[in-house]
Amino acid sequence: MKNYLFGNWKMNMNGAEIDRFFKDLSSGFPEKSETVMAIFPPFVYLERAVKLAKSMGVADKLSIGVQNVHEADKGAYTGEISVKMALDCGAEYSLIGHSERRHVFGESEERIAAKVNACCSRGLKTVLCVGETLEERDRGVTWETIERQLKSGLSGDKIPSDSIVVAYEPVWAIGTGRSASPEDAQEVCGAIRKWLSGRFPGATIPILYGGSVKPDNSESLFSMTDIDGGLVGGASLDPGSFLNMVR
Ligand code: PGA
Repeated sequence: MKNYLFGNWKMNMNGAEIDRFFKDLSSGFPEKSETVMAIFPPFVYLERAVKLAKSMGVADKLSIGVQNVHEADKGAYTGEISVKMALDCGAEYSLIGHSERRHVFGESEERIAAKVNACCSRGLKTVLCVGETLEERDRGVTWETIERQLKSGLSGDKIPSDSIVVAYEPVWAIGTGRSASPEDAQEVCGAIRKWLSGRFPGATIPILYGGSVKPDNSESLFSMTDIDGGLVGGASLDPGSFLNMVR
């Protein structure tokens, strides 16, 4: 299994900051790396990021992804972008079902499944994000929650296993500075691995951990058996930290 480091910029960074990020990133970029890397900028900067990655000579190792898509190809959906548009701008991946989409924007399980299906049918690789709230963890229903999200999100009958990545991101760990312990994260990621092996027999689907990952805890998290890498928010905004976690 390869290693993964995906940076979710959320609604951060402007054009000048993105230019600087890529300049700094390219100067420290590893010549040889086994890590699959991707950056998810705000969608208005997709093409800028794709062009920068190309001009800095890192495009073959660093993919650009989109943070969200609408499941329809086009139409009267003010403020939304389609899978085709994301692909047209050079995106290779989409995050789907991020906790902020679920909890701040009220995305339902049905909607998330429709988005996964739209990505799969159009050839956009999908990072399905799952995770329990603190209340669910305290009630002891962590696995029930994750299993429900996996079952629903991956319910489509035409999901190519090689275009799926699953990110386990406990909601209480996102942006709080309070990461899950490597052991707790491993327990859930191990259960996800087991579930995925039933859903997609024989497939190797990468499982990432996300939620307050930073250079000083990434190594202990990524060394766990069923954690193949990270989906990093805040710490991915700094090129030095990003490269540090890749190493
Ligand atoms: P964080 O965000 O690393 O800032 O906690 C992770 C994410 O939301 O993907």
